[in-house]
Amino acid sequence: MSNVEQTLSIIKPDAVERNLQENIKKIFVENGFNIKIEKKIKISKNEAEEFYKVHQSKPFYNELCSYLSSGPIVVMILEKDNAILENRKLMGATDPLKADEGTIRKKYGISIDKNSVHGSDSVDNAKIEIDFFFKS
Ligand code: UDP
Ligand code: MG
Repeated sequence: MSNVEQTLSIIKPDAVERNLQENIKKIFVENGFNIKIEKKIKISKNEAEEFYKVHQSKPFYNELCSYLSSGPIVVMILEKDNAILENRKLMGATDPLKADEGTIRKKYGISIDKNSVHGSDSVDNAKIEIDFFFKS
């Protein structure tokens, strides 16, 4: 049974700053993801606070929102069978030091905060996050 899903991926400021967007997009394509749409944008701190509001009680929330709004990002809708879980696997653990070999965060992540990529973690959040960036 096929289960084609869409998920939201973000190439975060640390990766865009190092010009890694083409390398990271290539990894997605090589792993069978279809990049349905993408845009390079810079968001405000308020927008980052809205995007990451599930984390508003966390000690790292303020820094996280400052960071995501600190420079250009690339936001993409990725499509594949089981895209949400498959993207999480390909990204690797939140902390690059704990990420498995062959994952994007292992390869490019700098630290737990500058970990190069975001990916939706559930069907519901994928929909909310896709709408956040792409709802017309
Ligand atoms: N983060 C951080 N410090 C932490 C945990 C998370 O700065 O101790 C940042 C990190 O950039 C991470 C984001 O907050 O990607 C969202 O955290 P989450 O637990 O949702 O990790 P993810 O889903 O991105 O793997
Ligand atoms: Mg998360």
